[in-house]
Amino acid sequence: MAPQWLRAIGSFFPRGSRLPEAAWAFRHRMIAGFVLASALAVAAFAVLQGTDPAHALLEAALPSGLAAVAVGARWGRRPRATLSAVALMAVAAIAVHASGTIEAHFLFFIMVPIVALYEDWTPLAAAAVVVFLHHGVLGMISPGHVYNHPAALQDPLLWGVIHSALFLAICATSILHWSIHERARAEETVLLDRLASQALHDPLTGLANRTLLHERLTAAAAAGEPLLVLSVDIDGFKPVNDSYGHAAGDAVLLELARRIQACCRAGDTAARTGGDEFTLLLPGSGSGLAAGMAQRIMKAAAEPVHVAGADLHMTASVGVASGSGSEKIDDLLEWADQAMYAAKHAGRNRFVVYDQSRGSGNGCTLPVDPGQARSWASYTQKLRGEIDTAKRAGRLPEQTRGPETARRTLESLLAAIDQLPSGQGPAGLPLPERTALQEFVFHHELVQQWTDSLTRQGILNVPRSADATAFWDSLRRTVTDPESGAGKRGRPDARAAVR
Ligand code: GH3
Ligand code: MG
Repeated sequence: MAPQWLRAIGSFFPRGSRLPEAAWAFRHRMIAGFVLASALAVAAFAVLQGTDPAHALLEAALPSGLAAVAVGARWGRRPRATLSAVALMAVAAIAVHASGTIEAHFLFFIMVPIVALYEDWTPLAAAAVVVFLHHGVLGMISPGHVYNHPAALQDPLLWGVIHSALFLAICATSILHWSIHERARAEETVLLDRLASQALHDPLTGLANRTLLHERLTAAAAAGEPLLVLSVDIDGFKPVNDSYGHAAGDAVLLELARRIQACCRAGDTAARTGGDEFTLLLPGSGSGLAAGMAQRIMKAAAEPVHVAGADLHMTASVGVASGSGSEKIDDLLEWADQAMYAAKHAGRNRFVVYDQSRGSGNGCTLPVDPGQARSWASYTQKLRGEIDTAKRAGRLPEQTRGPETARRTLESLLAAIDQLPSGQGPAGLPLPERTALQEFVFHHELVQQWTDSLTRQGILNVPRSADATAFWDSLRRTVTDPESGAGKRGRPDARAAVR
């Protein structure tokens, strides 16, 4: 183990090779371009000094060729950067020999910060080796060629030492710049990672949030593999808050989130998508795993939760939708939600698997009074406007999801009402494909209860006409009374299998 003072000194040095790929590639192209431009400039200068143009171009070809290989070769970053560094130093050496002046040595010092732009020790070391060979070895053997100065001819060792010291000084300042950039980038990376994590996770439970779930769903759907989506809602959670306080409620949510996460494999996503709602995505899992997974979640939720000195016995309702890889992700989420509501409706603490095959082709035609149906449709549209306005005004929380889901389910009924003939006589209202009357009624009841409660609180105010009520009562009767009208001919079954 190195002593502390040595480690403290070491911490000032950059680690190297940490540039993001795009930044490295950009710098590499710029540096190669600089080699080419400076090699041509040196050649032009040499021609002006009286050098034969063919000879000058031949000299420029060496560094330019090295830079071209460094850009085009299919090697890793380090050998390509090292080749570029050698090319840069070669330009400086050629300038010294072409001009024959001592001032051209400044080019070596200009090249070092450029090499340091790679933020890698190997190219910098390669540049130092070129300088050592040129100034140190060749400078000792043939000081006239390297320095071309009377003082250097008298004391080549002193000149070698002075040039080395200057070279080391420029290396030190370049390394300092590099180190500062590297540290700033590391701090930025930590900050960005933290922000990205906050933007994609639920702050209470640390589970994925809706945004991350959507990202993962999109990726899973793009893979075209089978997948399962589970919608989980804790049963009777509100009373926990009411009896034990919000902090205890949070502790229960945290514990249940931990258990739900523990039911997942690597590659699955558990998200908190509402107050006490969780959504799970299991990519690569077929419908055969649906029941087993739902039971695991229910079992995990049913273990007592010790909080505020009490053992709370919670249960969960689970809805499962399984996709074969061709479904839209919004449909899958919707189906899992619908199945979860069906589980609630069937008595809670159970799971329902959404059955797509029974979802289509089981529609029926209901005899209705078009005027009454339109009156109900207009009431529902006004309600939607009021809900949106209340949300925008902050009177309703954005995350209120139950009525939202119900409202979306009712959309297909609204679309069917739109298609009714304009006359007043009785007409047949076809229930759209994949939509069961029982679910319409169930969802409508949810919306109605919710609306009544918000109307009492003065948040919504949409009067419902007698016609609208009459339409809905007739619709509800077809569900509760199988002997009536459409019920006899085509009363749809609940699409889901309730366990
Ligand atoms: P149900 O069986 O129908 O699901 O009834 P429920 O009592 O669980 O009611 P519901 O799911 O509709 O409501 C969930 C409640 O969760 C509403 C709200 O009071 C509570 N809640 C939402 N977010 C939080 C939270 O972050 N912390 C706590 N402690 N409670 C929350
Ligand atoms: Mg709940």
